[in-house]
Amino acid sequence: MKMAELKKVLGVYGPGSRHWVGDGFHVRNLFPSNGIEKQIDPFLMLDYAGPTEVAPSKRPRGVDEHPHRGFETVTIAYQGAVEHRDSGGHSGVIYPGDVQWMTAASGVVHEEKHEREFTKKGGVFEMVQLWVNLPKAHKMSAPSYQALSKEKIPVVSLGAAGEARIIAGEWNDVKGAARTFTQLNVFDVRLNSGGATEIRIPEGHNTAVVLLKGEVAVNAEHALRGEAQIALLSAEGERVSLDAGRDSVLLVLSGKPIGEPVASYGPFVMNTRAELMQAVNDYQAGKMGRLEPALKEI
Ligand code: MN
Repeated sequence: MKMAELKKVLGVYGPGSRHWVGDGFHVRNLFPSNGIEKQIDPFLMLDYAGPTEVAPSKRPRGVDEHPHRGFETVTIAYQGAVEHRDSGGHSGVIYPGDVQWMTAASGVVHEEKHEREFTKKGGVFEMVQLWVNLPKAHKMSAPSYQALSKEKIPVVSLGAAGEARIIAGEWNDVKGAARTFTQLNVFDVRLNSGGATEIRIPEGHNTAVVLLKGEVAVNAEHALRGEAQIALLSAEGERVSLDAGRDSVLLVLSGKPIGEPVASYGPFVMNTRAELMQAVNDYQAGKMGRLEPALKEI
């Protein structure tokens, strides 16, 4: 049998921009601000917030009421906690190890804030938000969300090398926790210093390895070091090898490209400019719902 080909490393990038999202999330954007977004279709955006020391406060920091339409937001908590509520009447807290997979689809209005106890006590905050596109056929489906608490996310042991949490997709025969609209993988991989693993990823999937911290060689040649680095890999090939030079935390993303036109304007991602204008109008007319006024102090 012929050995499956390695996916080729097309490039290694740092964050394209650093900015505040609301007043709670200081992020390093790993795409699209560095210009590589089209090559990671169906993924639209990845922000890495923190790790940042947050001072105790009476007022929850974060992002006030805002809409989304046409895609999914995936929030992965590492340290600290985020409290959210939305126009569908859902609310909850995303604690370390938890993932919130929110399908905005036809439209959601929500707020994302530091959780109350975390706000009072302060501490280290670290989180990722990933935006996943929806195909045209599902952009106007009903919104929904999946609260994937830590215990719902399957863990694959890599022996002495570390472990992988299967947030979405499939790692060999282990299925991920999230329901998705297109074929994609999101793996939270922890490698110990000196640990190595090889990941099978389908031919045709756009693929990226995101290093949050540590040091990892991708396919034994391209080293990612430090924090907030991303390696973009070819859709061709069916495997990726990772060798950790230090204890490392990574996200491995892959997906079958949707291959449809992308028109985006802030929190809306549609196929055409006319659909974006419709989204703005619908939001302003209250068709995506509204939130009750927020607590200003706790
Ligand atoms: Mn949001």
